[in-house]
Amino acid sequence: MKQTTIAKPVEMVGIGLHKGHPVTLRLEPLEANRGIEFFRKDVGVVIALTPQSVVDTQMATVIGKNGHVISTIEHLLSSIYAYGIDNIRITLDSDEVPVMDGSSASFCMLLDEAGQKKLESNKRIMRIKKAIEIRDGDKYVKLYPSTNSVFDFTILFDHPAIKRQSYHVELTKSNYKKEIAKARTFGFTSQIQYLQSKNLAMGASLDNAIGLDDTKVLNSEGLRYPDEFVRHKILDAIGDMSLLGMNFIGSYEAFAGSHALNHALTKALLADADAYEVIELSSAVDVEYQKAYA
Ligand SMILES: [Zn+2]
Repeated sequence: MKQTTIAKPVEMVGIGLHKGHPVTLRLEPLEANRGIEFFRKDVGVVIALTPQSVVDTQMATVIGKNGHVISTIEHLLSSIYAYGIDNIRITLDSDEVPVMDGSSASFCMLLDEAGQKKLESNKRIMRIKKAIEIRDGDKYVKLYPSTNSVFDFTILFDHPAIKRQSYHVELTKSNYKKEIAKARTFGFTSQIQYLQSKNLAMGASLDNAIGLDDTKVLNSEGLRYPDEFVRHKILDAIGDMSLLGMNFIGSYEAFAGSHALNHALTKALLADADAYEVIELSSAVDVEYQKAYA
């Protein structure tokens, strides 16, 4: 099985969540073994996607270099991971990825438009060999060995429209597009008011998030899935795991996980040489991995 990149450059414009200004996102092919690279055209800075590049995880995953940051990367990365794209250059003219409708559906459409191209080098994946878990009280996130790649998430919110939700999905490109990609991010009115008083989330609206007051969903169109909230948490977790730098074989499980816990998990895994191995998918070993990226 070979590494891939996209077949041609593609571009879209959308609003950034925090500043509320238009941002142009351009995706370009990249040669083998380069991985995922961000380029901030407005300041001329390249930021490679690694856990070391992460500078903040409070509200979204933010990477940075020399004081220049890019925020809200996880939804785009989630779709790139699910498509099994190994090498890609992501160019932005601002410090955030456009939020689009708050899900990764638009990024999937953009990747579909770009198409995929096989490169000469063999694909490399990470095989999880040992369970790694990060806990914070009763919250936890973990990675553990398995022959397929399952994402299993449970959330518990003291809110009548959410309550307890669990979802699990075997991660393949087609399952992702059907079950996960359309799930939007969500926010509470009280939280949004607080953020906007600090000049954050200025672009947030019911066009790019599910909004909730104390008792109900505010979007007139309702939910896209009855359990859209937990599905979005899986979308986020996939994006956060993409910071490992390659697709992995193993499974992910979380209870009330967050970007911060996910980030701690990727760092803990990479710091433990016994917990994973990198496998090059030469034709002899790759048959069992083919189906995930079909
Ligand atoms: Zn999200």
